[in-house]
Amino acid sequence: MVKDLSLAERTKSMTMTCAEGRYILVAGGAGYIGSHAVIALLERGYQVLVVDDLSTGRRELLQPGCSLEEGDLGDPEFIRGVFARYPVAAVMHFAAFSIVPESVSDPVKYYRNNVAKTVTLLDAMLDAGCKVFILSSTAAVYGEPERTPIEEGMPTRPTNPYGRSKLMIEQILADVAAARPLHYTSLRYFNAAGADPGLRAGELHEPETHLIPIILQVAAEIRPSVTVFGTDYPTHDGSCIRDYIHVTDLAEAHLLALDHLLGGGSSGVYNLGNGTGFSVLEVIETARRVTGRKVHLVEGPRRPGDPAVLVASSARIARDLGWRPRHQELEQIIDTAWRWTLSR
Ligand code: UDP
Repeated sequence: MVKDLSLAERTKSMTMTCAEGRYILVAGGAGYIGSHAVIALLERGYQVLVVDDLSTGRRELLQPGCSLEEGDLGDPEFIRGVFARYPVAAVMHFAAFSIVPESVSDPVKYYRNNVAKTVTLLDAMLDAGCKVFILSSTAAVYGEPERTPIEEGMPTRPTNPYGRSKLMIEQILADVAAARPLHYTSLRYFNAAGADPGLRAGELHEPETHLIPIILQVAAEIRPSVTVFGTDYPTHDGSCIRDYIHVTDLAEAHLLALDHLLGGGSSGVYNLGNGTGFSVLEVIETARRVTGRKVHLVEGPRRPGDPAVLVASSARIARDLGWRPRHQELEQIIDTAWRWTLSR
């Protein structure tokens, strides 16, 4: 009997067939966003191989059911060996350094890790016959935007080495795809936040620099206060506005990109955000409400390189890949992050 499958189901069963018996290689799968992508892949029945040197990745974020190759992506012998041992259908690349002030003080570290090592990975994967690549990119490629919401066609003028390192990889991907059989998706994340609702993964940076986990550590009395970086921005309350997106919704976008590329879809660059901006002071107020705890704040100077407002238009990925965020409310995002903080 022929089953009447929806288009989404047909595409999914077709792409699963494309990946059959082969692995999805997740570089940086022991990191914050990578571990959530691993959860989404395993839930859909994909075989997952994590490649991570565990330098910033955490063993406790490795998900049961995935394989691990521990080593350095930038070591050609190691990464070529990985592709020789495992049949890989596609690569998702999360392994990068992402702390803006550190990229300013140590740019070589960022260009070596984020650019040079990605070139080594790409070369090894293409030589092994793997043609599908999904890149973690960032809103930092836009720099100070002319207007918001930001669309993908707007100028890319990153203001720090971190943003430049990601833009360089995007340009390298475009050049390589013009010369070799590479199909790629570059996903420009706005502010990733929250935790897996089942608490199988969450944010665990050391040191922590991101706003929401810092606020929640104050709420949990792990640190005394949060400093608001700048209260003189041209925004309604003077603090910076960002577009916070739930990490599970980001992971879902990777799955859609994977299905699209494995199904023969074309390469593309997409923003990922909710399209709504919240100021730093609004995030702190929301965290007070969600946690019912006190959050002591201190007003501080601006952090160099921070644009006043970053809000995404995600219309392109909604149109092309059918992406719809499912955890859009800031309360929901903070609630999952809070439960994760309490579970540590
Ligand atoms: N921020 C802040 N205090 C902190 C950490 C961050 O005021 O301790 C602000 C930061 O200036 C930015 C927003 O919170 O406007 C989000 O910063 P985060 O580091 O979380 O992400 P980024 O936007 O740098 O990727």
